[in-house]
Amino acid sequence: MAAGLMKRYREAGVAPPAVMYVDRDCCSPHAHGQSQVKAMFAEWNELQVRLDIWHFMRRFAAGVTTEAHQLYGTFMARLSKCIFELDPDDVAALWLAKQGELLARGVRPVSEKALDKLISRKELALHCRKRTRGVEETTRRIKALIDEMDSEKGRDTLGVPLLDHERIQQVWIDQQRHITCIQDPERFPLYMKTGTLKKGGVELCCYRCARGSTSLESFHLHLNRFIPGTSASDSHFQAYLLEGLMRWNDDRMEEAVRGKSDLRTYSSSEREAMDQLSRKVLKRSLDERYRPPGAYTGKNYSC
Ligand SMILES: [Zn+2]
Repeated sequence: MAAGLMKRYREAGVAPPAVMYVDRDCCSPHAHGQSQVKAMFAEWNELQVRLDIWHFMRRFAAGVTTEAHQLYGTFMARLSKCIFELDPDDVAALWLAKQGELLARGVRPVSEKALDKLISRKELALHCRKRTRGVEETTRRIKALIDEMDSEKGRDTLGVPLLDHERIQQVWIDQQRHITCIQDPERFPLYMKTGTLKKGGVELCCYRCARGSTSLESFHLHLNRFIPGTSASDSHFQAYLLEGLMRWNDDRMEEAVRGKSDLRTYSSSEREAMDQLSRKVLKRSLDERYRPPGAYTGKNYSC
């Protein structure tokens, strides 16, 4: 697969990817060794292999006694803060916008801390760029966080500790070397400005982030929907998969020409139902791209 991918890039005369996010094999356990992924894509010698930060954080979650612990959410949120910092200019602009919204409603100015509470996660993700703090800073912060949580402070009201001492110390020993692998790649813009939005009289930038393997994982979710039902024989499974991928490529091709469609489902039964209903009620198909499944002819098809 890797060889095929490199071949397709080469034949298309397209510059190879600069960064690849992975959930494992980001680096070699041996000093000066090469990561397996980098060796696999040997032709792309400029390729930077990075570990997906969400996966990195999940490895620390393996050191807790239970995810139902009172302090679990706090621990994970603080772990994320050990890794990321927000762009201060973006945050200042969002504060200003929120203040503007309050003023418009006749509310007197409030403190920055109070404003923080009014900012939703969605707003933060849309308007504020994040960046990694660098290896030294992150190492120092995670060590301090583990030291704190692995002490009396890491117990709930009943005295149950959040962290399993042995396990979390082992996780820390194993994961330290990957702090280099989660740092944002140098000289590579991870954010794309998608537009602006006016809020509280302030013009805010909207961003889309390319960091991590989230977009790929969203695609996995679609792959799931290509297969109807919960069981299929191997040959049907493959047929569904190929047919789904064909539809996917078709849609991406059309999107490039006609712009984005509002439809996001790949479930053929849902699309069939919508097509039939819209024909009945609106006398036209809402989904121009929909093609009804072919009728069974009784003949075996051959390619
Ligand atoms: Zn690594």
